[in-house]
Amino acid sequence: MSKIVFLSSYDSELESIWMDSINQHLNDTSILLPHQISDNEAQEVEVAVVANADPDQISHYPNLVWIQSLWVGIENLVSYCANHKIKLVKLVDPQLAKIMAESVLAWTLFLQRNMHRYSQQQKELVWKQLPNVNSSDLNISVLGTGNLGIEAINTLKQLEFNISAWSRTSKTIDDVTCYSGSDGLSSMLGNTDILINLLPLTDETFHLLNERTLSMLPRGAKVVNFSRGAVLDSDALLVLLDSGHVEHAILDVFEVEPLPSTSIFWCHPQVTVLPHISAPTNMNSASKIVAENLGVYLNNGNIPDTVNTSKGY
Ligand code: NAP
Repeated sequence: MSKIVFLSSYDSELESIWMDSINQHLNDTSILLPHQISDNEAQEVEVAVVANADPDQISHYPNLVWIQSLWVGIENLVSYCANHKIKLVKLVDPQLAKIMAESVLAWTLFLQRNMHRYSQQQKELVWKQLPNVNSSDLNISVLGTGNLGIEAINTLKQLEFNISAWSRTSKTIDDVTCYSGSDGLSSMLGNTDILINLLPLTDETFHLLNERTLSMLPRGAKVVNFSRGAVLDSDALLVLLDSGHVEHAILDVFEVEPLPSTSIFWCHPQVTVLPHISAPTNMNSASKIVAENLGVYLNNGNIPDTVNTSKGY
């Protein structure tokens, strides 16, 4: 029977918790750590379960057929898998999508109800009531209508926000104004109060939110980045925050993580810094999904839907 290796950047304690969690759902087999596999046996490894592992760790297994990521974001594995003709499967977990949707709703309400401004006013001992904007008058634009984007949209719909969405291919979504292409992006950005980024990081989306595109937002717009830091050009964002064009940014992801202590974002009054927590992988639900995927492969050789490495997601 083919062997399955677990490769991660976790410390040994967390690694063994993950191993136990996945193995309890597997029948007739177990995933193994690298030290449990000899150099000869490494030739027999067909599947790697990977949690933010370095491609160097993966290269020790020359006959890999596919990789199951424990993370949704797989940008660091795409080129390795494309070059080595290895199929790449990202985590698709409805529970994680629900948590992301709740984060999107929470921070949308935070911005809608001016909590960022009241927090600043409190520091300055200012008693000033700000106007409230009804949900149906607030234009929320979501970048990405994938597993996470669509769940976020469906959750936002319940509060009757005015929702637009942008994706690579054109879409029809009930009660949502859908856009695609660069003209579509310009049109959508021009009519946005709160911009929520849920795009994967690819060659095409790297610094998609730059000085030119962020300037298309109306003055006073807010930006929420929950996907990957490098989709947003940090220097451009700072320029637009400092000019007041962008009123506030909620940033959960950064080009360098953890965010270095020298980053200006930590103390910027118009920025809320979050430590990459908008939708963490849930060990219980992810373990079941991964074990099921592995079980199907061992049973009949079927591999779940794979990442399109030429598109990068
Ligand atoms: P997904 O299902 O692959 O969906 C990606 C969406 O982005 C699709 O709608 C796709 O358009 C669109 N897209 C991709 N490239 C585009 C382009 N060049 N122009 C326009 N639209 C483009 O991804 P997902 O599962 O929703 O996850 C999104 C990202 O969230 C992940 O890649 C990861 O980086 C991030 N994430 C963050 C956290 C966190 O805790 N902060 C947790 C999990 C995931 P089409 O529909 O037309 O293909």
